[in-house]
Amino acid sequence: MSNLDTYFLFLVAIIAGWLFGRVNLFGRKPKKTVNGNLFEDYFVGLNYLLNDEPDEAIDTFINALEINSETIETHLALGALLRRRGKVDKAINVHQALLARPGLSKEFSDSTRLQLSLNYIAAGLLDRAERLSNELLVENSPAKWAALEQLITIYQTEKEWEKAIEASEALLRNPANKKDDRKKGAAAHYCCELAEQQLQANQQNKAREQIKRAFGFDRHSIRAALLLARLEQLSGNQKAAIKELSKIIGSHPEFIPQTLPLLHGCYKESKSSEDYEKKLEKILGACQDITVALAYAEQLKHNHNDDKAIQFLNSFLESRSSISGVLELLQLYMPGFDDKVSQKFDSLKTQLEELILNTAAFRCNHCGYELKTPHWMCPSCKNWDRVKPITEGNGH
Ligand SMILES: [Zn+2]
Repeated sequence: MSNLDTYFLFLVAIIAGWLFGRVNLFGRKPKKTVNGNLFEDYFVGLNYLLNDEPDEAIDTFINALEINSETIETHLALGALLRRRGKVDKAINVHQALLARPGLSKEFSDSTRLQLSLNYIAAGLLDRAERLSNELLVENSPAKWAALEQLITIYQTEKEWEKAIEASEALLRNPANKKDDRKKGAAAHYCCELAEQQLQANQQNKAREQIKRAFGFDRHSIRAALLLARLEQLSGNQKAAIKELSKIIGSHPEFIPQTLPLLHGCYKESKSSEDYEKKLEKILGACQDITVALAYAEQLKHNHNDDKAIQFLNSFLESRSSISGVLELLQLYMPGFDDKVSQKFDSLKTQLEELILNTAAFRCNHCGYELKTPHWMCPSCKNWDRVKPITEGNGH
């Protein structure tokens, strides 16, 4: 159990104790629960908590605390705690029981519906969650901003990008969100998702519109800039594409590996492989990235000969260790080996390939999830722009 949850449960225990005490102060008799005395339940719950059995403690507190105006917030929070602990069905029951209470104030009804919607999202019941959040929107409730955030989560999960964009536009109308770069960045990604679909369907004009829309949300969007470069390349504007890619290379060196296939394509279309070689040499001067070094070695091999590539890679690997670099070097050496030696090195090559294949090269800086390929959205925590290359000691 996380420290935060433990503190919260202790807090609940204190509040519950205070509430029971108050009931006595007013001279009322404590109400009996099904299992017996209210105070007995309270101490049973506390005992579970002290014995590190939080689930039993939560159940006991919920059963002991009668739902009334003084305990609604505690019930709301205990339900949320159940959800965080993966007990989604129980959380739904707690919040549904609250919502069914007659005379529930508008404020608590809204908070309960928000919590219930979060439970439904956690349970994968997205239709129900969408319906509840939309209710809050239609009622123009003060909870509508939180409801919009939940709708965005739902549309993002369902890959309903147009709806996610519209909900983001509405959310960003709230002055409190105007400077929220994460929300704006996410909205830009939704536009890029659509642009990618349209590029694949060869609908270049529509894709251009979405890229423009993405820049409207986030004028520094790297993904939109990469898509613009791809669009320019597809439209035959190689110079414009190279210009766009050069901007990314200069401002965000961590994205250089993603620019290289496009850059290569542009120079190939322009039939200027010498210029590509010069460009790579220039990039290497500013960024000693192994991906660039491998592309440069490949270009030296293509434009000159294997020896030139071997010479370059050898000197590059003297200052930086890299398994991918060693593998490339081995492949460059292999044509010169006789059959017997070649066979031995073949198995070494396979081992190196497996090692590279099984090594994570990217990590989410939000949740720590590791990946082998770059992702705009972390598949684990679902946050955008959090997956970064592992630069130290990944051996690539
Ligand atoms: Zn993550």
